[in-house]
Amino acid sequence: MHVELLCTGDELVTGLITDTNSPWFEARLFELGVKVERVHLVGDVHPDITHALLETALRADVVLVSGGLGPTSDDFTLECAAAAAGVPLVEEARALEWLEERYRSRGLTLSPSARRMARIPQGAEVVRNPAGSAPMVILRLGRCQLFFVPGVPREYRALAEGEVLPRIRALLEQEPGRAYRAFRLLRTVGVPESQLDARVAPLHPLHPQVVFGFRTHAPENHVKLMATASSQAEADAALASASSACRALLGSALFGVDGEEYTQVLARLLTQAGATLATAESCTGGLIAQQLTEVSGASAFFIGGAVSYSEKMKQAWVGVPAEVLERHTAVSRQTAEAMAEGVRAACGSTYGLSVTGYAGPTGGTAEDPVGTVYCALARQGHPTRCERYALSGDRDRVRLFAASSALELLRQ
Ligand code: ATP
Ligand code: MG
Repeated sequence: MHVELLCTGDELVTGLITDTNSPWFEARLFELGVKVERVHLVGDVHPDITHALLETALRADVVLVSGGLGPTSDDFTLECAAAAAGVPLVEEARALEWLEERYRSRGLTLSPSARRMARIPQGAEVVRNPAGSAPMVILRLGRCQLFFVPGVPREYRALAEGEVLPRIRALLEQEPGRAYRAFRLLRTVGVPESQLDARVAPLHPLHPQVVFGFRTHAPENHVKLMATASSQAEADAALASASSACRALLGSALFGVDGEEYTQVLARLLTQAGATLATAESCTGGLIAQQLTEVSGASAFFIGGAVSYSEKMKQAWVGVPAEVLERHTAVSRQTAEAMAEGVRAACGSTYGLSVTGYAGPTGGTAEDPVGTVYCALARQGHPTRCERYALSGDRDRVRLFAASSALELLRQ
């Protein structure tokens, strides 16, 4: 199946916004085994949009057109579609009804400009928009089906997911000899991409229907599995077998699959254990606290965090003894341990987690150069654990991996 995407809007060709709709749709479509052939960005110029519609319809089986369905004067995609099809724009009774209903339910009256959203090329089909006003429109040009959806990402996704993909799936069902696919993302931390590749390599010959891909999404590395077969059941079975073999090889580096976020996994572990956490951060400046509080419901386990950046704060907030700082400096095993123990004792939490290090680009010592980070985990009734890491990269990267290494102490 030949699919093309056509995104309209001056903002897309003047650097004001980036097209985020297309990559999202491409990924969804690829899961069905279809690769988008071309993506077009066209400004709000009448003849350009009309020409692009005619040109893509000559090649493609399906074109997803987005943007320019709204009520403002720069919204004229359907006028172009009518011109391309050689038909007039007509007011569609059902579309008008949906619009009136939507406006009435919000205590608004339908203005003449908003009413324009009910005008569609004669002979086209309308589909109700569950997330906005402008309906989706389906038009046939020759053997090509064009789906028109609003550009607003929320509306685009609602219609693409709920209406466009099911129609494409139905068309694919009719294609002879089509390939079926199944995907899984295995998410790891703490293992470099090259090592991950080497670890998984023995599986390649054992699972010929599965392609193993790798992707870095710092600080995580992902193994992407794609199974291809002549039926969905066969693809699912091939994926399940490769994925369980892969999981066994990845061991505890694997923290989640598909959409499972690291901090969500951590939050679940802590909440299930009924444990609480307090943090004391130096070089990460609150990054750990920020990541943990991205999870809704973090208050169930996260007491809070101190950004104890200076020596003064390390002493005053988390109770690092002055002599520890004097004897061992702020970046040392002893300071990291005192920070973790201090913040845990101050908050009465199950765990105290700390990080201190040289994020660079300046600083560091001969024994502990830039990139040296100490992370410690204090736990009530247990000896404190501390690890030293030699991280590489710029300041942002060191901070990111420092936060991740500290959280890994907690997860492992
Ligand atoms: P509206 O009813 O809001 O006018 P519309 O169908 O006319 O919807 P546009 O006017 O083209 O759509 O776009 C609406 C908003 O959606 C734009 O301001 C832009 O921020 C966003 N948008 C449009 N196209 C894209 C895209 N391809 N990727 C990301 N955002 C987009
Ligand atoms: Mg618009």
